[in-house]
Amino acid sequence: VTYAIRCAAIHRGDRHGVLLSFEDVTDVEAASQMRRDFVANVSHELKTPLTALLGFIETILHGPAREDAAARDRFLGIMEAEAERMNRLVGDLLSLNRVEATERMRPTSRIDLAVLLTSVVKSLSGIAGDAGLEIRADVPEPPVSVPGDADQLRQVLTNLIENAIKYGAEGKRIDVRLTPPAYHPRMRCDAVELVVRDFGPGFDPVHIPRLTERFYRVDSHRSRQMGGTGLGLAIVKHIIGRHRGRIQIESEPGQGAAFRVLLPA
Ligand code: ADP
Repeated sequence: VTYAIRCAAIHRGDRHGVLLSFEDVTDVEAASQMRRDFVANVSHELKTPLTALLGFIETILHGPAREDAAARDRFLGIMEAEAERMNRLVGDLLSLNRVEATERMRPTSRIDLAVLLTSVVKSLSGIAGDAGLEIRADVPEPPVSVPGDADQLRQVLTNLIENAIKYGAEGKRIDVRLTPPAYHPRMRCDAVELVVRDFGPGFDPVHIPRLTERFYRVDSHRSRQMGGTGLGLAIVKHIIGRHRGRIQIESEPGQGAAFRVLLPA
């Protein structure tokens, strides 16, 4: 607990006293610490690719690659990958910002989750196939209608399935299941359930409570190698929160991972 303590001398005629006030500023302090951590993290995440880019530019302009066309092409390829990494990070930061800006507004339109999920699975099947994975989707007949923001829910489905592709073991499948609205005791209302399950290496359940924090990664090396920004699940959590939903994560090392989303219908 952090207290701000103020002290004032008080004079009333010939009577003198001291006023001490104690204010609990724990939340204010925690919020500004979070802001500082976020800025430090963003700066670090941007500085790493930027340093690489500057290094390669220097080598191409003034170093040995100046006269060596093959080396120059190789360096340009690496520079392209680093610039794409920065671009993805900035894109995810802007998404997070947009989601936070709408967090207190309830979605007003209704969308068909069955149609949306089928379209997302179709658009990601190609990259799953390239990674040696098959997406098996179990989607009920449309409509599976929920109040929601179509762009944001598309982002939830995309981020969860993309993670299953990034971290799912090659040669195995990804199961995606959508269950039509039914009364859900934990939600105390009718809700639809979406489960994205992969059969990759999974992770120790100790990570689960922190997994939706910005920039939290179980395996930083793998995340960076796969082009991860560390923001995907933070974006998912904010969108689900705005939709008054819940997300539940299950995993055991070597057993794959399951991400279960409940959305009020
Ligand atoms: P990233 O861009 O790094 O993938 P996310 O916020 O989407 O960031 O995920 C945070 C971390 O959670 C990842 O870096 C990874 O360590 C872990 N993770 C997410 N999904 C899975 C999954 N399906 N299997 C194993 N680990 C996962």
